Amino acid sequence: MGSKTNKTNQVGKISVRLTLVCVLLIVCLISVSQLQAQGFSDKELILKTIDYKLDLKIDYENEKILGNCQLTVFNPSEQPIRHIPLTLYRLLKVTSVKDGQRVDLSFTQQVLSFEDWEQLQVNYIEVSLKNPIQQGERKTISIQYQGYLLGYSETGMRYVKDRVDEEFTIIRPDCKAYPEVGYPSWKVNRAAGLQSFNYLVNVTVPESLVVANGGKLVSRVSTNGLVTYSYRNIKPAWRIDVAIAQYGILEDKVNMLRVFHFQEDKEGARMVLDAMRKTMELFTDWFGPLRDSQGFAVIEIPEGYGSQTDVTCIIQTRSAFQSKEQLYQFYHEISHLWGVEARDPLPSRFESEGLGMFLQYLAQEKLENKKGALEKGAQRLSASFRQKCQKNPKCREVPIIDYGKEMLTDLSYSKGMILFYVLYKLVGEDEFFKIMGTFYQKYNQTGATSDDFVNHAKEVSSVDLTKFFEEWVYGTESSEYIINEIPIEEIVKKYRW
Ligand SMILES: [Zn+2]
Repeated sequence: MGSKTNKTNQVGKISVRLTLVCVLLIVCLISVSQLQAQGFSDKELILKTIDYKLDLKIDYENEKILGNCQLTVFNPSEQPIRHIPLTLYRLLKVTSVKDGQRVDLSFTQQVLSFEDWEQLQVNYIEVSLKNPIQQGERKTISIQYQGYLLGYSETGMRYVKDRVDEEFTIIRPDCKAYPEVGYPSWKVNRAAGLQSFNYLVNVTVPESLVVANGGKLVSRVSTNGLVTYSYRNIKPAWRIDVAIAQYGILEDKVNMLRVFHFQEDKEGARMVLDAMRKTMELFTDWFGPLRDSQGFAVIEIPEGYGSQTDVTCIIQTRSAFQSKEQLYQFYHEISHLWGVEARDPLPSRFESEGLGMFLQYLAQEKLENKKGALEKGAQRLSASFRQKCQKNPKCREVPIIDYGKEMLTDLSYSKGMILFYVLYKLVGEDEFFKIMGTFYQKYNQTGATSDDFVNHAKEVSSVDLTKFFEEWVYGTESSEYIINEIPIEEIVKKYRW
């Protein structure tokens, strides 16, 4: 545009000057927009999401979703907050934002790359509030949005193939299908920790389809060939997943278990339901009854879409419905029902994931009569731990207690499992169940820190566990044992007096 204008100018000097001004302007504009697009990594995400109401209409004809979400945030900090930052899928556009009094709020939106993940593009929205949110205050805003879902395979998340299709549609945070408080920075969003909120989702689809969610079905209302399913979360949630297909549903009313399955996998769904029931009985026997259990759901999804777990739901790819070999995944997830919420600001998660891995193998031995499953599992995970230490020396030097802070929670699955295997051999099966069961019964209402877990185990056990926890939770001698391939039996002997 600048050069065209210049051509029409007849006075050369003015033309040169104008060109210079234009160039300067362009340079300024570029650097301003770069400034705008950058600097997110220095931000801190303060607002907490505490409540979410999501109304969704799926328009299969145009392959679009139309959403209205009522988002309630809370400001726990001393500083007043004037803007709400949101991220949404790159092809979803916000059409309006209103406050609690239905008054329009101004907002900006632009498609940006994550600063620390360039392939990941999102629609970044910044809502300006009329009055800042003061300390301890909450604020509800309504966001209307619509558009397309076409997956995120370009980011390397190949399992995110999400799109609107009558065969199968999934609404989930992986594809940013609903607005979430956040900046286009993985680091900043992660540092804010997992959110914990209540939700109510209303999803409207043609009557031939079934809407599946891990929450409690509140209502199902049909009008004019359309049906609206309403689900409310059972436990505080950190994500919302909704899957839509021509699902069949199998139920175990006693244990409040539900399986949403594709029509052709009804037999597999029966096998899954049966395995879940047996696992519930086994763990109840070991750890005592679940406190206010309100059920658990499994939702089948096509192969290649990536399995996911929420607090009361497993979203599981088809393969697990087709072979007994994969039932261990359900043992693992059901073990989390006996989990205690982590109270550390950045939890290591060894008590949940390490234990989950350990219990999945132990349940295989007990339910499937699979002898040696624990030992084999431990060997596989030791090898994986060694490999990770080779690639990243930090893995060797960081004790389990700091995995959260050091962003190494992946290792809680491998080294955490070995920790519980050693503990199991050290104290014996009965005492092991007693430690875990009493820990759950004592802390399931309040949550607990990793230190609480260690102290509780020491208190309950008849074996002196001081040295064991020093080396496995707070120290790194344990890493050396794994790296040097010391057999479990030998490791256990170090703590026997
Ligand atoms: Zn897990």
